[in-house]
Amino acid sequence: MNTEIVKIEIDNDSVSASALGEKGAEIFTDEDKAIIRHAGEIIKNGGLVAFPTETVYGLGGDALNPESSKKIYAAKGRPSDNPLIVHIAEFDAIRKITSEVPENAVKLANAFWPGPLTMILPKSDAVPKETTGGLDTVAVRFPSDLVAQEFIRAAGGYVAAPSANISGRPSPTEAKYVIQDMDGRIDMIIDGGENEIGLESTIVDLTINPPQVLRPGFITNEMLSDVLEEKVETDRAIIEADSGIAPRAPGMKYRHYAPQGTLTIIEGKREDVVAEINRRLAQDKAEGFRTGVIASDETIGEYCADVLKSSGKAGDQFVAAHRLYSILRSFDDENAERMYSESFALDGFGAAIMNRLLKAAGHQIIKI
Ligand code: AMP
Ligand code: MG
Repeated sequence: MNTEIVKIEIDNDSVSASALGEKGAEIFTDEDKAIIRHAGEIIKNGGLVAFPTETVYGLGGDALNPESSKKIYAAKGRPSDNPLIVHIAEFDAIRKITSEVPENAVKLANAFWPGPLTMILPKSDAVPKETTGGLDTVAVRFPSDLVAQEFIRAAGGYVAAPSANISGRPSPTEAKYVIQDMDGRIDMIIDGGENEIGLESTIVDLTINPPQVLRPGFITNEMLSDVLEEKVETDRAIIEADSGIAPRAPGMKYRHYAPQGTLTIIEGKREDVVAEINRRLAQDKAEGFRTGVIASDETIGEYCADVLKSSGKAGDQFVAAHRLYSILRSFDDENAERMYSESFALDGFGAAIMNRLLKAAGHQIIKI
């Protein structure tokens, strides 16, 4: 298949996402609008288009067309029991795809939509089981990225989209990674530059009481608890790697985000971590392996690895999250075989960073 690759570069920061509608349309050139209309037609005709969002790139198809969902699974090589998130571009669109909109969903939408929050709700008959991986529930998100919104509207309002990577690889945060994985497999790729956040949305399940976070993200448990005025916990299966419990978001059980070599997280006091990683690097080098390290600006200079990647200033969670997937991908590009990462604190957005890093490392963490 010939994949059309097009560029739309707008400044998402220059327009507040809530001031959309008529005004939002003006930030696009006529050429941009024509591209987005064309992308929308592809979706309406049952095709697939990768598009930018504020989290990661999505691989979009018509959420209400079972054949489109089957194509998404095929393009990604994704197991068909792993449901897709349905993306909408206005709150009221939620009513068609759900059988019930609880008060909690309205509260969370008022607080965090458009934005990086996905809600699990009971599905309506309008959503085919192919889209929900056979479940009676549907995952819904209203992204804040303006290209994403305009595209969803052009596509008819309901775009099923998992991350636009081959199943198991790190989610793409730049179009070049979408091209690496999807060129020749889908109809179109919209290059909208680097994604703002760089980690997937928080998923909260509102079909159970109390609500539960199935995947941590930029919207933290504390932020959700504040709005809902009740304690929101994370699905235990996600926090405890060896719990033997099945995660409630089917996708969380698969190996994910993984670079091609092996990644090990080393946690402990700063000097101990530096010494331990360097000891391992020396050993790997002696055995002929190409090595890599993920560390903060403050310590990166102390490591002797072939590929050094900074996660930003220590404690800057936003930068660390933003860089994580492109670092994991660049290890592959630079043929690193043995990689080590410093650990991240678990507070706030850190829970999401550590969740993805642990999955990328196949849960290999050494505490010293
Ligand atoms: P992706 O956006 O590619 O990372 O995948 C979407 C994630 O949402 C996967 O981890 C799915 O398992 C999860 N998900 C989607 N729909 C549901 C649902 N109805 N119930 C629970 N988890 C879901
Ligand atoms: Mg994914």
